[in-house]
Amino acid sequence: MTRPRAATLAPKRFAGETVLGRKRRARKMARVLAETHPDAHCELDFTNPLELAVATILSAQTTDVRVNLVTPELFRKYRTAADYAGADRAEMETLLRPTGFFRSKTNSLIGLGQALLEHHDGQVPRKLEQLVKLPGIGRKTANVVLGNAFDVPGITVDTHFRRLTNRFGWVDEQDEVKIEFLVAELIEKRDWTMLSHRVIFHGRRVCHARTPACGACTLAAMCPSYGTGPTEAAPAAKLLKGPRARDLAAAAGVDPDLVPASALTPVLSPVPEDVVSSTPEDAVSSAPEGL
Ligand code: SF4
Repeated sequence: MTRPRAATLAPKRFAGETVLGRKRRARKMARVLAETHPDAHCELDFTNPLELAVATILSAQTTDVRVNLVTPELFRKYRTAADYAGADRAEMETLLRPTGFFRSKTNSLIGLGQALLEHHDGQVPRKLEQLVKLPGIGRKTANVVLGNAFDVPGITVDTHFRRLTNRFGWVDEQDEVKIEFLVAELIEKRDWTMLSHRVIFHGRRVCHARTPACGACTLAAMCPSYGTGPTEAAPAAKLLKGPRARDLAAAAGVDPDLVPASALTPVLSPVPEDVVSSTPEDAVSSAPEGL
């Protein structure tokens, strides 16, 4: 699908947009995001609901890549809720150390195992209200588990989702729970889980926190924040990230050759251990839930 070159588009004004107009625009943007990021998916590795719950707890304040480096060994040693409940604390802390907040995360995982044994026969429950009562699990983690392990539609509001939905003009709100409910009004329920992945993908690859690649963005014509980053093709293309960065440029009508080879690396580079308590732009970056 050929799109007009983003850099030639004038910023549009959305000040007088009706509620219905915003819903229509949001759904159109969601469709374009689906075309832009056909590879969007949960970037945490897991094979069952317990592994996903554990990986999501570990993803607080670090990158999915770093979590994925730690979980193979963790999941080999701890296979059931009982394994987590009876874990040797020091051993688990050593395993979790690279993810940061390792003492709190160890507490959460041991507590999670105990709570699952005590209240849910060792199984991860399928209801949001039950999930959010478990140690280390807040709404964000619960929605990740529901959407990706149980196919129950869920909206995951992380730092990227909060930033982008505000830039999109879908919400004017910083509270994660309020954002979840507001976006739920705009987007059809069946699309919630994949929308979350696509918005997060866009935030990591195109619409960066500091300098978004507006001039190479497929959403430019529908985004009230167009112009927050460079609108010229060349500087914008240099900001695109990830193995599909040249595809992203082409989808926005920008010459893919403007994307430097150095951009074509995985976007989730591990965070150095001494900065895990900071908030790197591409980290999941939310304080550990329920810790
Ligand atoms: S990159 Fe620019 S145009 Fe694209 S969604 Fe972000 S702020 Fe809007």
